[in-house]
Amino acid sequence: THFGFRTVRTEEKQTLVREVFDSVAARYDLMNDLMSGGVHRLWKNALIDWMNPQPGQALLDVAGGTGDIAFRFLDRAGHVAAVRRAEKREAGETVAEPAPNSAVAGVTVCDINAEMLKVGRSRATDQGRLAGLEWVCGNAESLPFPDRSFDLYTIAFGLRNVTHIDRALAEARRVLKPGGRFFCLEFSRVVVPGLDAAYDLYSFKVLPTLGQVVARNREAYQYLAESIRRFPPQDRMVEMMKEAGFGQVRYRNLSGGISCIHSGWRL
Ligand code: SAM
Repeated sequence: THFGFRTVRTEEKQTLVREVFDSVAARYDLMNDLMSGGVHRLWKNALIDWMNPQPGQALLDVAGGTGDIAFRFLDRAGHVAAVRRAEKREAGETVAEPAPNSAVAGVTVCDINAEMLKVGRSRATDQGRLAGLEWVCGNAESLPFPDRSFDLYTIAFGLRNVTHIDRALAEARRVLKPGGRFFCLEFSRVVVPGLDAAYDLYSFKVLPTLGQVVARNREAYQYLAESIRRFPPQDRMVEMMKEAGFGQVRYRNLSGGISCIHSGWRL
């Protein structure tokens, strides 16, 4: 097979994924920056831009790991709220400042891996983020939340690791309120001619070596490159979302398709 993919049986996959993230949790954030040259930050910001966070919204961030999406979402919602207060004051209204540590919006970070959540929770504490965050250990394929609970659902660089994508999509739709919106940020297929060869070289040669040196885990980063190639391309992902019952499905390529954001609505 292409680049000698190992065939991983589905029952093995969950265990493998857990081991991978257990072993890299402590160095996960550093590795993200190194591997992507910091570009993952731009991709995550692009996701937040498209989401257009509003004060009062409830977000479920699945495979939320160390909290990158959650923190950005809360910061942006907080910014929107501050701008609104300023506009009202300019219009002559009296507007009170929010109480310290009050939540502008609510984010539930759900991840299958307790080690990743631990790193996320301590990052939140270090940054003085006390309000609006919940950390829940759970599987994307069987979410521990009631139907119609959230306004927004995000999964960033997570769906690729899930054993049954269709089950995760069905669960996403179930926990969203009608009118709620689903977003997936994931590695996808390069659409720029010429970029694909360089990208293959990077993922199968440079990446595993980086993983070996920095995270002392070559296998984990080999798994990463392989899982990216196995993930459904842009158009197939659109179909799967439609099959799961999402409407108005759209996507935006980032960095020539290295990553991609898919969006759909629970109508
Ligand atoms: N969203 C974060 C980010 O963008 O930085 C973390 C992404 S990290 C590459 C993938 C995460 O997915 C890991 O924290 C892993 O534990 C989690 N994960 C893997 N399989 C999962 C599943 N079935 N359900 C929930 N989380 C899962």
